[in-house]
Amino acid sequence: MKGNVPDNIQKILVEQLVLSTGLLVMPCSTWLFEVTHRPTNFGFTVDLDKRTCTCLEFQKLGLPCRHAIAAASCRNMQYTMFVCKHHLKETWAETVRGIILPVPDPKDVEVPAEILTVDLYPPTTKRTKGRPGIKRKLSAGEIPGGAKNISRTSAQTVLRKVTRRPLARKLSPE
Ligand SMILES: [Zn+2]
Repeated sequence: MKGNVPDNIQKILVEQLVLSTGLLVMPCSTWLFEVTHRPTNFGFTVDLDKRTCTCLEFQKLGLPCRHAIAAASCRNMQYTMFVCKHHLKETWAETVRGIILPVPDPKDVEVPAEILTVDLYPPTTKRTKGRPGIKRKLSAGEIPGGAKNISRTSAQTVLRKVTRRPLARKLSPE
């Protein structure tokens, strides 16, 4: 667990490092390189500053590809420098930085005596048969079809009906 690169990432990098041997590196500028695979004569352009390669692995995975590793070694730079911060241990360490308390044993939890004596029953309501409906239930006084379909006169009639409806018993004066 030494270093800032996790072991799984290090394994991938070592595989790429092995594959990077035998690549022909041609520096174009300080950060730009032309990396050629000799047997196939296939060339890739690596930009170490922008962390891109035309093989797309470098920018998509956030890990230096074999071409980038070859380019970095040409400049005597550590290839681990080009690992995206999302893969680094210090980034992941942030997620577990807070205190995580251990889960107590249920036997150690004290339950009050009155809670232990309470009998719990399932709800008295039963589930209705079949698939539950997807339509919204209408509010009191609401007309199916929405307000846009109601003419002015019928809306007034509805409003009158609603306002005439007596309030709940509890609210009405005795
Ligand atoms: Zn590449």
